[in-house]
Amino acid sequence: MVVGKTNMDEFGMGSHSTNSMHGPVVNQLSTDSPLSAGGSSGGSAVAVMLGDADIALGTDTGGSIRLPASYTGSVGYRPSYGMISRHGVYAYANSLDTVGFLAREVKPILDLLVDTKLIDEHDSNDPTSLSTSSRRRCARACPPALEDWTTITVGVPLEYNIEELDPLIRRGWTAAATALKAAGARVVPVSLPSTKEALCAYYVLAAAEASSNLAKYDGVRYGVRGEGGDAQGHTLYSEARGAGFGAEVKRRILLGTYNLSSKAMDNYFIQAQKVRRLIRNDFDKVFRLDNPLYDVVQFDLSDMDAATSLYDKKGPPQVDFLLSPTTPSFAPKLDDVLSESSLEAYMGDVFTVPSSLAGLPCVSVPSTVEGSALPLGLQLIGQYWDDVRLLKMAERLKALVATESIA
Ligand code: GLN
Repeated sequence: MVVGKTNMDEFGMGSHSTNSMHGPVVNQLSTDSPLSAGGSSGGSAVAVMLGDADIALGTDTGGSIRLPASYTGSVGYRPSYGMISRHGVYAYANSLDTVGFLAREVKPILDLLVDTKLIDEHDSNDPTSLSTSSRRRCARACPPALEDWTTITVGVPLEYNIEELDPLIRRGWTAAATALKAAGARVVPVSLPSTKEALCAYYVLAAAEASSNLAKYDGVRYGVRGEGGDAQGHTLYSEARGAGFGAEVKRRILLGTYNLSSKAMDNYFIQAQKVRRLIRNDFDKVFRLDNPLYDVVQFDLSDMDAATSLYDKKGPPQVDFLLSPTTPSFAPKLDDVLSESSLEAYMGDVFTVPSSLAGLPCVSVPSTVEGSALPLGLQLIGQYWDDVRLLKMAERLKALVATESIA
C-alpha cells in the first residue's frame, strides 16, 4: 500500500534534504535542536523511522539513500547499478542513478528484492536496466548463499580512515570489525588507492550529467514560463531558466556546463572518467568475486609501492565485502548545515561516492557507540550483483552490533 510522497532535495541534489521548496526535512532524534536527516532521500528515512511506512523508496546517485540511513539510524540499500528500474524517476546523473530502499530492518528490503523477483526484472522503459540475459549471466557469477562466518572475509579499506573522521565513528567502525572477527569472520585491511580522488570525480561527472539532463527546462516545453511569460512575468530564456531552479541546482548546472565546455572538457570531464575507471579497478582487485560486467583485471605488481613486503606481493586479499563508516560524522545540527558552504556538504559524501562510481551494491547498517547518543552508519559494499548476499550480511551485521556491547 503506497501511503504518500516524501520531502527531499530538489532533483536529488544535496546531502541534508535542505534544498527543498517545502523547507528542510527534520530528523527528530534529538529533542534539543533539530538535526539533519541526511539527503537527498531524507524524507524517506524519517518516514520509516516514524513508523509511517515499513519501507520507503529512495534514489541514490552518490549516497542519497545511505546518508539519510546513517543519520537517522535506519537501513539504507543502494542496489547494483541497472538492477532496479528507474522508470518514473527524473534523471539527475544517468550513469550513477539508482532506486533503492530504506527500512528499519534489512528483512523487508530483502523480501522485496527476492520474493517479488525484482532482481530478475528487466524494464524496457529504463534504458539502463540490465537485459534478462545479462541478469542471468550476473546471477550465475554470484554464489547462491551466504555461508557461515568462517567462510566470509571482510576488508577494511585503509583509505577511509581519514583525518576528518569523527573519533567516535572510528571507534564504532573498529568495534564492528572486532565483532565480526569474534563471530568468526576473517577481517583484513585492504587498500583502495584511488579513493581520495573519488569525491572530485563524482562532483565533476554528476554536475556534467545534471546540466545536460536539466537543459530541457528552458521555459518552452518544460519549465516555468507560461504564455507571454509566467505569472511573475519571466520570459525566455535566461529568466525562465533562473526562475525555476533553487540555488544548489543552479550551481550544479553552472559547474556541469563549465566541465563540459570545450576549454575544460579534457581537464575535468575526461580526467574524471579516467579516475572512475581506476576506482572500479581498485574494487575489482580486492573482491574475491570477479565483476561479471568486465573482463578480469590482472593483478599488476608494477602498481605496487616498491617498499611493499614480499608477503603482500601475492596480491591484495580477496574479500567478500568491504566495511567502512557510511559518513565521517554523526547527523549535524540543521542550523549548522544551513550556514555551511556547499563544499562542506559535499564532504559528507566522501565514503559513499566511490562505490557509486563503481556501480556496486551497498548498504548502510545502523549501529551505536558509547559516547554518542546518535546512531552511526556502517557501510557494507559488495561486488556487482552480489546484492542478496550483501543484504544477508547486512542482516547479520545489524544483529551482531546490536547484541555486542560496543564500547
Ligand atoms: N549528495 C550527493 C549530491 O548532491 C548525492 C545525491 C544523491 O545521491 N542523489 O550529488
